[in-house]
Amino acid sequence: MSNNHSARLLIGAALVAGASLLGNPARAARRSCIESQALDKVLTNFMFVQNDDEQTPIKRYSAKDACDTRDFRGVVDAILFMKNLPAFKSIPEKFKTVLSEQGPTRFLKTRIENIVLETENNQVCAGGAGAYVNQSEHDTKIMHVCPVLVSDRSTPLMAAAGLLHEARHIDGFEHVDCDHGEFLGTAYPACDTTFEEQGSYGIGTAFHLYVYLGTKNEALRDEARANVAIELVRRFNKAPLGIKQGALIQSNDNKISFYDGTKVSLLVELRLDVAASTVKRGFPYFFFKNGQVAKYDFTSDWPMVEGPLVDTYNKLSEDEIADVRDITVGSVYCILLSKRVTCYEKGGMFGFRLYQVNPVNFYLRPEWGPDWIAVRGSDGKISRLPDDPSEFANTSEADLETIENPYPAVSSFAKLAGKVVGVSPKGNIVESTDGTNWSQVKPYTGFKFKKLYPFYWSKKLEDL
Ligand SMILES: [Zn+2]
Repeated sequence: MSNNHSARLLIGAALVAGASLLGNPARAARRSCIESQALDKVLTNFMFVQNDDEQTPIKRYSAKDACDTRDFRGVVDAILFMKNLPAFKSIPEKFKTVLSEQGPTRFLKTRIENIVLETENNQVCAGGAGAYVNQSEHDTKIMHVCPVLVSDRSTPLMAAAGLLHEARHIDGFEHVDCDHGEFLGTAYPACDTTFEEQGSYGIGTAFHLYVYLGTKNEALRDEARANVAIELVRRFNKAPLGIKQGALIQSNDNKISFYDGTKVSLLVELRLDVAASTVKRGFPYFFFKNGQVAKYDFTSDWPMVEGPLVDTYNKLSEDEIADVRDITVGSVYCILLSKRVTCYEKGGMFGFRLYQVNPVNFYLRPEWGPDWIAVRGSDGKISRLPDDPSEFANTSEADLETIENPYPAVSSFAKLAGKVVGVSPKGNIVESTDGTNWSQVKPYTGFKFKKLYPFYWSKKLEDL
């Protein structure tokens, strides 16, 4: 292993950018000071140093810093969060891991003794990392923490999982390129091969599982469980629990099902009429015509969500909601109406009028990267709007770039098990092995469908 190799926790712009729009619980404000006994214990186990932009140490933290409100406080809070979790002993055999055996605090402190707080101008931090370790610093047990790991968009649970993930890298575990899902095509490898090998993503996921199974705090339990489900789906090339590649399919009569290429599983029959649906950070969201929004959180609960996601949707009038063709909540939140695209960004609202295009839905970028705002027309053409909605006003419809449509015969598609499945213009579910000859999928014959997405699922996720 090369000495200058650094293993990093890639936070992923998608993850951070989506957090506030989806109304994630941010950490509580750091108003009060850290209790001195608790801080003493943390400082007994870890030495904290602040680096400047040039990676020169400018401060060593001590008991005098109990009232710090910045990154030091964020990391201490994350460590105390781990320490204060109930000691959870009765973990089911199938979920036992090195993390659950050692407990999160011991896991961390046997691997890391020095925590170096870096600035956002540090080269690795600027590249999107949440934290990193250098193999050359293996013996000195140093972890570098970037501001984003403990930013106000992070929660103690997320920050603690990040510290444990990074601590695992000191054992020599590295990542591999994702062969599917949300992080396909990232600049840095963002997956592990299996959950069972308990590499860094395995440890992070095992920690969420540990919290989920052990805590009595309901909100924390829900947050941890959702993280388990989503990490199992997107971080392991050989997915555990029988998770399969497939399509999530929405019928015109509000039935949501999963198709893996051979078998259909009905997830839910929604009682409200769906105006639009989208998948963000791996979680499907359903926007109802009555203004409510439900999230599929890999349980059979389908909870209604609150916060900016819903508030933005409710800026539409009743007539506009009836006219919604699609919604996407990526780095920008956009709503597609029959004659207009409306995007919301940084408190601003930007409209793009459609005269020629008869829009069907948004066309989402198939690989990881900044989101496109692209509209698929009923003629199969895909028109790409400016990435920055503030440019809408300076752009005319005739100037729009056209993106090549890989499957013009269908209005949405997913790849699975050697074939492509899609929704035909007549609303049938069709599949093809060559992308040219399409045939109806038998179990779906006789019903009409609106949309489908690439999805990874197994019934066992609901039974967690
Ligand atoms: Zn990593």
